[in-house]
Amino acid sequence: MRIARYTTGEDPAYGVVEGEPGHEVVLALQGDPLYIGVVPGDGEIPLEEVRLLAPVIPRSKVIGIGRNYADHAREMGNEVPAEPLMFLIPNTAVVGPGDPVVIPRQSTNVHYEGELAVVIGKIAKDVRVEDALDCIWGYTVADDVTARDLQKTDGQWARAKGFDTFCPLGPWVETELDVSDLRLVTRLDGEVVQDGTTADMVHQVADLIAYASAAFTLLPGDVILTGTPSGVGPVTAGQRVSVEIEGIGTLDNPFVRR
Ligand code: MG
Repeated sequence: MRIARYTTGEDPAYGVVEGEPGHEVVLALQGDPLYIGVVPGDGEIPLEEVRLLAPVIPRSKVIGIGRNYADHAREMGNEVPAEPLMFLIPNTAVVGPGDPVVIPRQSTNVHYEGELAVVIGKIAKDVRVEDALDCIWGYTVADDVTARDLQKTDGQWARAKGFDTFCPLGPWVETELDVSDLRLVTRLDGEVVQDGTTADMVHQVADLIAYASAAFTLLPGDVILTGTPSGVGPVTAGQRVSVEIEGIGTLDNPFVRR
């Protein structure tokens, strides 16, 4: 099931997205799927008449995983880490589909990174790998935008990956999906720049949840970014980045400089 968060000018609401590409409709829901549950609402709205929002605003954290595809680690001149390489992104970095990503004045080298994002659905601590998939609410698409120059000079990645607008999520959450082998394609102004598959992740989703939950309590709405395949590169103001993951959809954002 595809669950979107959207607005028609009123308060944000959730809805189920149904229909074939180009003809989707949003079936309104009342409530909140993560925190209080939902019941069917009334109304069916053509998708093009709503503004999609980030499908989740993490209350607690976005966990990033670095160097989780061997070919990407190699292109950056890095080894694949033996254990998942975790970092944190503040929830203030999250924006939705179509929202502008603001290139900050502090950086002259901002990169796109198309990634599969896991949305946690329940409180989870010290989860075993075999139980890990039970903690997932669903999956969405992310762009782990990175100020590559600051990532190198800062050492810690908090600023380089944590600027406001640096974590676009969307277009919606797919709650039923086998993510073991999904094609991931990133386009820069329509040109394919990343073309990978989630089958090439070094550490799989269940392993990442177990590893992260051994350090942090995972809360409903927390998001784990699972790493990017090779082909990362710079994006400048005026360009658009779209990330498409098979079985989920396409996240598309313009980049601007303020
Ligand atoms: Mg990344």
